Amino acid sequence: MLTRLLLCCVLAAVATAAQAMTLYKSTDANGRVFFSDQQTPGAQAFVIQERKVERPILQRPKAPYPQQAYRYPLPWRGGPFRLTQGPNGSFSHTDTKSRYARDIAMPEGTPIIAARSGTVVKTENRQAGRGGDASGNFVRVRHDDGTEGVYLHLKQGSVSVRVGQRVAVGSPLALSGNTGNSSGPHLHFVVQQVSEAGLVSIPYEFNQPVGTLPNFALGN
Ligand SMILES: [Zn+2]
Repeated sequence: MLTRLLLCCVLAAVATAAQAMTLYKSTDANGRVFFSDQQTPGAQAFVIQERKVERPILQRPKAPYPQQAYRYPLPWRGGPFRLTQGPNGSFSHTDTKSRYARDIAMPEGTPIIAARSGTVVKTENRQAGRGGDASGNFVRVRHDDGTEGVYLHLKQGSVSVRVGQRVAVGSPLALSGNTGNSSGPHLHFVVQQVSEAGLVSIPYEFNQPVGTLPNFALGN
């Protein structure tokens, strides 16, 4: 054991000191093994070549979507409200477009504000009740990293932004509603990203629990 340890030390020293080196192994009368860089009679010679160690590149498992460092402030004024369906919710958060969405029950007419800055790229404002589009009235904001925040089931006629408009965190977007495929007044907030398969829902986190009052210090 001691011998092995010594050898390891020698090898480490060799590796840092020289490209190649000859070591001599000898055994004394008690059977103890020694290594030395000095040749002694009867010693067995080893040429130690420093090897180029190919360090394995640590491959981190690739996430199927980019990590979302941004944490979304609650996109409404008032509350506190209740989360009624979270990511992977079996009621309707099962397809690729809505898998990581959150539903927050809130009275119709609750001010909905931008949870992240960006540019409004699409809106719908004219749908009454269930209408023809499951999303109901909505606002879609493209963030600067290419992801999109979508605010669904908004109140008819309440959307106060237009396509191309720049919005900041806390900018008013619309009032909450109960339009489209909605079983009660609520906001469906989802973050999506364009992929080969079209728009896909990606995970996101709010910066505080849904059931708390919005952080008014942030302007919401
Ligand atoms: Zn939903």
